[in-house]
Amino acid sequence: WTGPVLSLNSGATIPQLGFGVFKVDPAETERIVSDALELGYRHIDTAAIYGNEEGVGRAIAASGIPREDLFITTKLWNDDQGTQSAHDAIDASLEKLGLDAVDLYLIHWPTPQRDLYRESWKAMQQIQADGKATSIGVSNFLVEHLENLLADGGTVPAVNQIELHPALQQREVVEFSRANGIQIESWGPLGQSKYPLFDEPSVTDAASAHDKTPAQVVLRWHLQNGIIVFPKSNSRARIAENLDLFDFELTDAEMAAITALERDGRVGSHPNDVN
Ligand code: NAD
Repeated sequence: WTGPVLSLNSGATIPQLGFGVFKVDPAETERIVSDALELGYRHIDTAAIYGNEEGVGRAIAASGIPREDLFITTKLWNDDQGTQSAHDAIDASLEKLGLDAVDLYLIHWPTPQRDLYRESWKAMQQIQADGKATSIGVSNFLVEHLENLLADGGTVPAVNQIELHPALQQREVVEFSRANGIQIESWGPLGQSKYPLFDEPSVTDAASAHDKTPAQVVLRWHLQNGIIVFPKSNSRARIAENLDLFDFELTDAEMAAITALERDGRVGSHPNDVN
């Protein structure tokens, strides 16, 4: 990986751009992830609930890429929160991925109604100590959930993976995470095609100015904000397009115009509503 990397509080580094596989059909996953690896991606973001860890594992095995050159993330699903169930879940994910360890293991949602995320976080720390995850983190955690984890002491999450795009910038949780050394990963970085980001003049103007597509401009906005991003696409042409972000730079004025698109435009679920 010759693109940018960021440092995690675990001491590891993470490629700032990766490939996400939410809603990638399990039957197609091996082919699509193989395409992504062939095109140059080295960071893959999956989750137990996506049902496609086996396909990711087959693509990794078939690629012949040395393990140390890859960064693989998976996530603990809500039903598996708790101590023993978390240990069983990581073992099941590693088996499906065909790996001895993942680079990053995340609690997928806080599910506050279950009230198990603090216990699960202790299990995550044991999973890391057991060598099954190099770094551990959380996803969809609001400030109140992070505060509860930090109050328990122990390991600080390496990342918080949250819905984030120009229409939903989550400034409070980003600021709190960063102040505590937690890197931000954005999911739905393109608004999952549900939010019309690609028609916004600030996006289309920058795209014309740099001879890039609106999607590339939005992804570049994430990168220049120091955010880790892993857009998803099933199309080889778009997978290639989403990797082609390193030969241009948005100006401060272009960045500011895109940042002005904030409008509380959540396209996914609110973390407190997911159980
Ligand atoms: P995304 O914002 O990456 O949007 C994907 C959509 O954008 C797809 O419909 C695709 O067709 C379209 N698209 C991709 N590239 C394009 C291009 N170049 N031009 C035009 N359209 C393009 O949303 P996502 O897939 O939900 O998020 C990315 C990744 O984040 C996921 O694959 C997954 O790994 C992760 N994720 C995590 C959570 C979580 O709760 N932690 C939730 C959702 C997604």
